[in-house]
Amino acid sequence: MSEQFERLSRLPLRDDLRGKHPYGAPQLDVPILLNVNENTYGVPDEVRQAIIAAICDEVGGLNRYPDREFTELRTNLAQYLGHGLTPDNLWAANGSNEVLQHLLQAFGGPGRSAIGFPPTYSMYPLLASSTGTRYIAGDGNGQFDLSAGDAARQVRESGANIVFLCSPNNPTGSALGLDVVEAVYEASQDAQAIVIVDEAYAEFAHTGTASALTLLEGRERLVVSRTMSKAFAMAGTRLGYLASAPEVADALRLVRLPYHLSAVTQATANAALTHSGKLLANVENIKAQRDRIVDSLRGMGLTPVASDANFVLFGGLEDPQRIWQGLLEAGVLIRDVGIPGHLRVTAGTETETTVFLGALEALLGETVS
Ligand code: PMP
Repeated sequence: MSEQFERLSRLPLRDDLRGKHPYGAPQLDVPILLNVNENTYGVPDEVRQAIIAAICDEVGGLNRYPDREFTELRTNLAQYLGHGLTPDNLWAANGSNEVLQHLLQAFGGPGRSAIGFPPTYSMYPLLASSTGTRYIAGDGNGQFDLSAGDAARQVRESGANIVFLCSPNNPTGSALGLDVVEAVYEASQDAQAIVIVDEAYAEFAHTGTASALTLLEGRERLVVSRTMSKAFAMAGTRLGYLASAPEVADALRLVRLPYHLSAVTQATANAALTHSGKLLANVENIKAQRDRIVDSLRGMGLTPVASDANFVLFGGLEDPQRIWQGLLEAGVLIRDVGIPGHLRVTAGTETETTVFLGALEALLGETVS
């Protein structure tokens, strides 16, 4: 046990947090960062100027609390999503992680449970644990290949109060058919569960992949969560949001901290949304690199999972740790998500992808003594 861990264990920590490890994707100073699925393109100059101007307008008024209802932001987010949504259908927080935390605070908690389908987003069990919600690890069928019937059965049998569906799923990249969402919603009728479809990577899906936003009408327990951290190239802003029936947002008002979205966050996000076209301009380039990665890895004899996100999970590696380390030494940081024989890489710019593929090919060709 490290000295730091030992000191922590001497504190009067909540029993259910003892022995837990925090979320911790490595943050290393490496030239090519392809490990946390950011948009690796910088913010375009025009948008940068607009954000600076918007923040400047706020600075003189920073002695006051911000708009607690972030009305302008909810209006802009509703407009961006379309589907007939109004500001009343929108909620936002500091990253979609906080949006998910609000949902667990309001609908989970002691005596309640949430189900997810590993391999899926690693924060679901952590958010459940920090809110005292029991986490049920369902079966994601290896590569998150969930059929409507199987997912519905698991949800019905679990009796969970909250269901996490992630589409496109992290870390596999696979998108779920809407039939799965519909079947899960039906199956959660008895438990009256909140069904969350986490669409953090929706903008990268192949053309024709439908969003669960189309299912919101008439389903008051369905929630679709999104983020500005990925396609919008705004991970540093920390702005996530959801669309749902207005009463779900009202429930979240009961648990959010007062004024949880700072004036600077609101101004930045509003300026970004006004320039969404410019910010999203690189999504097609990223999708092309994602598809290139899948093709190239197949060509190297590896087994990439078909992806609708801005990353690719790939298997067929005898020694993933050696490859991860070798790539790091070549200046490329990717992610070991803990699946045996697999690694995950974010699709970056064309140049970054070329460096990654070249370094990987060289490592695979090395004879290991
Ligand atoms: N959902 C999924 C599936 C993710 O992969 C992530 C980030 N990696 C998030 C939610 C949270 O992102 P953020 O808090 O930056 O919005």
